Parts: sequence; structure tokens; C-alpha cells
Amino acid sequence: MPVPLRPAVSALPAYVAGRPAPERGDLVTYKLSSNENPFAPLPEVLDAVAEASRAMNRYPDIANTRVAEALAARLGVTPDRLALGTGSVGVLYHLLQAVCGPDDEVVHAWRSFEAYPISVLLTGARWVGVPLGPGAEHDLDAMLAAVGPRTRAVLLCSPNNPTGPALRHDEVLRFVDAVPDDVLVVVDEAYVEFVTDPAAVRGLEVAEGRDNVVVLRTFSKAYGLAGFRVGYCVAEPRLAQAVRSVALPFGVSLPAQAAVLASLEQEDALLARVAELVERRDALVAGLRERGLDVPDAQGNFVWLPAGPGTTAVAETFADAGLVVRPYVSGQPGDGVRITVGETEANARVLEVAARLGRAGTELSEPPPTV
Ligand SMILES: *Cc1c(COP(=O)(O)O)cnc(C)c1O
Repeated sequence: MPVPLRPAVSALPAYVAGRPAPERGDLVTYKLSSNENPFAPLPEVLDAVAEASRAMNRYPDIANTRVAEALAARLGVTPDRLALGTGSVGVLYHLLQAVCGPDDEVVHAWRSFEAYPISVLLTGARWVGVPLGPGAEHDLDAMLAAVGPRTRAVLLCSPNNPTGPALRHDEVLRFVDAVPDDVLVVVDEAYVEFVTDPAAVRGLEVAEGRDNVVVLRTFSKAYGLAGFRVGYCVAEPRLAQAVRSVALPFGVSLPAQAAVLASLEQEDALLARVAELVERRDALVAGLRERGLDVPDAQGNFVWLPAGPGTTAVAETFADAGLVVRPYVSGQPGDGVRITVGETEANARVLEVAARLGRAGTELSEPPPTV
């Protein structure tokens, strides 16, 4: 007889990662499917990693002390409010493990970050997906109405992956003040460095003085360290300690810790790259709209094409042009394609393909012809 799996585990959907770009003889291909940073690592960061690798026979500092101190100074919080993990997805797993179990519920928007349902199901809890409202934004009123006696946590994604808009600060304040204070509210700010909307939520301010609010951040996107897996939360000290207790010991490797420290030292150079990506993003959104595509506000390093029933065909049209994008196909309303802001050449090609899609690329239309 096979070893029985926990029911929560046998029912888990697989995480669908963005596909890599295939090699092609006829043209340069681009991976625009995982919201990665297209810039190569800075030499200073590479040097710090090489130096740290010399001690790979030793375990890393289990408490991430230097990283936590540098980050705490940078964020203006005490180090006991920080917990680091293998990506902010790792930290989210730990947070939910610390507060949820079977028969509990976790409320989040849908469509939203694909890791959310998996992180909830792993704990044995159920996810309650609240459909996005107009503009592909969170519907906070509907989310509040979905909070019930079994709700242990609410996940807010700002800007929302994969659709792009940020949550508004005043609306989040109203939301958290209406949610019972024993319900964890996670504000996932994976793309906060790319946000330019002045009304966008400022997670750290929301968390200030509210013990149930936790902010999630990552070094994967703006800082270009996706392959090293480092993320963190800012939480009230007791919750931060709970995350550390649940976490895999030594989860953040020595080279990864060194890369984060070097990146914080090189922050100006890295944020200049972010500013460049923000310019490219805004140009991409404007260009797509000029070509008749109905693109929602984009506050991350990606844009959303609400392609509806045409989603698979749209993604194939991009793939034929050497651009790997990320289709979200459920057969329900709200399907679409997410495109990461990438190399200048890749973005220009996105616009060329988009010109061929025209209106056919947007929701409620016939699947477009593959050109
Ligand atoms: C990319 C992303 C993360 C961070 O992932 P890591 O595990 O830190 O690489 C978290 N939340 C959202 C919404 C994301 O898109």
C-alpha cells in the first residue's frame, strides 16, 4: 500500500512557473513570463557573493543578523520585527503555518498571485477567492464581506500580480480597521519599489501600531535576486518570532545573505534601474493602449492583457515572435496574459505583436487570428 499523503497535499495544484525562452536560430528570444529583473547582477554584488562562497563549508548565520540589522536601519523598524525566509513566498508559507489549520479560511482576491491558494491549502485551510472588481482591482468591500468566523488571514496583493493595479492607502486603512484584530492581514508588497501611484498603499504605515498587519517584501524583483530566494516580513515582534520558529533553519544561504547586504549598499544603482524599468513600463502601457488594447493600470514590472477566451491564442502569437509571456487560462471570465517589462528590444517587439492583435486581444472578443 502506498504511503498515504495528507489530503491537503494530495489535492494541491502545481505551481505553474513562467516558461523559459527557447533557443531559436532565427531571432533572439526573451523570457517575459516570471517578472524577473532583466538587468545582469552588479559587479559589487557578484564580488560579495564570490567572497561569501569561500565559506560554503559553514552554515550561514541562522538569525540573518547582519541582514536584519541593515534592513531594519533602512526601513526604520527594530530588527525584532523582521523575519527572513527563502523568498517572500517562503515567509508567507511560514506565516500561514503559524496561524492556520484545517477548517480555517484565508480570504484573498482572485485572480491574484498564484502561490496564494497553494500556501493556504498546505496548512489544511481553505482559500476563499474574491473576484476582482472593475479595473482588475481588489474588491475590498466584497473581501470584507467574505471575512467570517473561520477567517484566520486575509492576503492583499499590491500591486496585484498578475493584473497590475495597486491598492489605495485610504481604502486599506478602512479595510484593516473593519477586520477583527485577531485576523492576520498580509500586505504583499513584492513590487513596492516600482509603484508610482501616489495614492498607493504604504504597507509599513498600515502595519504601524496594528499588531495583526504584516508586510511582505522580496529581493527577487527590484533587487534582481530572484535566483537567490530572499524575502522578509515586517511584523509585530511576536509574529516575527513565530515565523522564525516555523522556518526551515538556515534557509537563507550565505551567498544570498551577502548578496542582500551588497545590494543594500548598492541601492542607489539598483533603484536607478528600477526607475528605468518604470519608464519602460509606462511606455509599454501607453503603447498597448494606443494599439487598442484595454490594459489596466500597471504599478509593478509587468502589464496585463485581459485577453479573455483569446488568452491561449494571444500567448501563442507572442511565442511565435520569440516572446514567452504568461497566459492565465481558467475558462472563466478574467483570463489574460501577463507580460513582464523586459529588455528594450523585447518591449519594442511586444508592441509590434500587439499592433497585430489590435482589439482582438481584449476581453469579450473572438479569439484573435494567430499571425
Ligand atoms: C514575485 C512575488 C513574490 C515574491 O516571490 P519570492 O518568493 O520572494 O521570489 C511575492 N508576491 C508576489 C505577488 C509576487 O509576484
